[in-house]
Amino acid sequence: MRTVPDFPEPGVLFRDIMPLLADPVVFAEVVAALAADAPGPIDLVAGMEARGFLLAAPVAMALGAGVVPVRKAGKLPGPVASATYALEYGTATVEVQPFTVPDGSRVLVIDDVLATGGTAAATVDLLERCGAEVVGLSFLVELGALRGRDLLPGRAVDVLLTL
Ligand code: AMP
Repeated sequence: MRTVPDFPEPGVLFRDIMPLLADPVVFAEVVAALAADAPGPIDLVAGMEARGFLLAAPVAMALGAGVVPVRKAGKLPGPVASATYALEYGTATVEVQPFTVPDGSRVLVIDDVLATGGTAAATVDLLERCGAEVVGLSFLVELGALRGRDLLPGRAVDVLLTL
């Protein structure tokens, strides 16, 4: 993994997981570890745009689950359900197609990095409004100082690496 200062904007210490995905052995180990930590049977794995997609799909295959992309606003053809959350400056919106999330589905949420937790908390809210039971969240990396877990009280949060 690379750490890139001032990307994509000044002051951000960007954790770049791409070299890890490019290594077939490490990629397979990461996917296997995320799948092994899943809390019980999983119907759907929800991956956050865009790096979350790269992890959610193989983890879903490993678990015998389906995959649901959680996309930025305007990317999915409707009907969509959406959740808007606060960023440091402004807001962001995430969307899913609710007809891909059957009522009572056991959903595992996956992303590469847990930073402030805003994206993850909005995703949980969104999926549960669609009828899902979000049974856990898994991340490759947690940026511990940003305390993203504080926005996910009572949730099963699994991380492979805390920085
Ligand atoms: P947050 O909502 O603050 O937890 O941010 C989570 C989203 O932003 C994830 O989709 C991450 O991929 C991305 N992200 C936030 N901070 C970083 C960082 N320092 N390095 C890499 N990705 C990040």
